[in-house]
Amino acid sequence: MDEPAIRRMPRAEVHVHLEGCFELADVAELARAAREPLPRPVAAALDADGPGGLAAFLRMLDWQCGLVRTAEQAARAAYRFAARETSSGVAYADLIVNPTHWTAWTGRVPALFEALAAGLDEAEQDGLAAVGLCPSLLRQQTAGQAADLVDWMVAARPRRVVALSVDGDERSAGRVSGRFAEAFARVGRAGFGRTVHAGESSGPEGVWDAITVLGADRIDHGIRCVDDPELVTRLAGQQLPLGVCPLSNIVLGVAPDRRSHPLDQLRRAGVPVSINTDDPAVLRYRNEQEWAQCAEAYGWGPEVVVEVARTSIVASFADADRRRALLAELDAYAAGPVASGGPADSGATAGSLRSVAP
Ligand SMILES: [Zn+2]
Repeated sequence: MDEPAIRRMPRAEVHVHLEGCFELADVAELARAAREPLPRPVAAALDADGPGGLAAFLRMLDWQCGLVRTAEQAARAAYRFAARETSSGVAYADLIVNPTHWTAWTGRVPALFEALAAGLDEAEQDGLAAVGLCPSLLRQQTAGQAADLVDWMVAARPRRVVALSVDGDERSAGRVSGRFAEAFARVGRAGFGRTVHAGESSGPEGVWDAITVLGADRIDHGIRCVDDPELVTRLAGQQLPLGVCPLSNIVLGVAPDRRSHPLDQLRRAGVPVSINTDDPAVLRYRNEQEWAQCAEAYGWGPEVVVEVARTSIVASFADADRRRALLAELDAYAAGPVASGGPADSGATAGSLRSVAP
């Protein structure tokens, strides 16, 4: 399936960070408004392999989020995210936002999320993708900070907030899940989803912790589970989904290339996998490119691509009505000529999936 065909396919994105969605023009504009000089030339501002390496790049991400100082700017960032998803054909997204990066909002997390929700409301009214928000803990935070975030979620039930997340570098933080166990248990009891970065720079033990200590409903990355057959069996048996980001894994050296990435091996083992972009503006990549390149690398026909799209919707934290509606739209798509972008391409490889769509 080519990119135009993917763009027309109803699907969800479940692993993407707002911090990684600022385009160069957005950063330059925010810097101008804040009267701050860019720390690097604008063209290289978001290069993960620029001068100073990863550490300088991570400082750059914090700096750019720190430029978002007004509610209007936060709302614009959220609106542009929804527009970007829509232009890739994504119908619904769970968006991870880690307040520790948004330094202008320290002590005002509820106001930040209120502003983001306002931007997303406006986007949805304009017919753009629907987006749920996943406030995220940084792995290095304390149990007390986790409790504070959950206190707010449970008491305020903020608009559009659908799940609690935890992200950050597993390698430098180590096994810290126990510190967040109480917060995740409480947020789960309150009816929120729980999504956990694990099995990226950690091994299978990180994924085990996410399941057994944090009660994760979904794992972000999770690909190192492939090193533990018992864990793969558990994920498949429990139908616990992984939000996989192949290109991000390749850029960060977690996997050498697409063909040796375990995405398809896990799918064939029965683990629910979806395809996501993690930090698309930073990676200079679009969601539909990621899907099309996976389809090509693994030799997937339209029926497999549609199956993965189905997983993306089922794995999302969209409410049940929206998931049902999106699955119906996907069924309608699968019943049409899905393998190509339009009539000009609808030759040998195009065909109806009516007979194989469940
Ligand atoms: Zn991520």
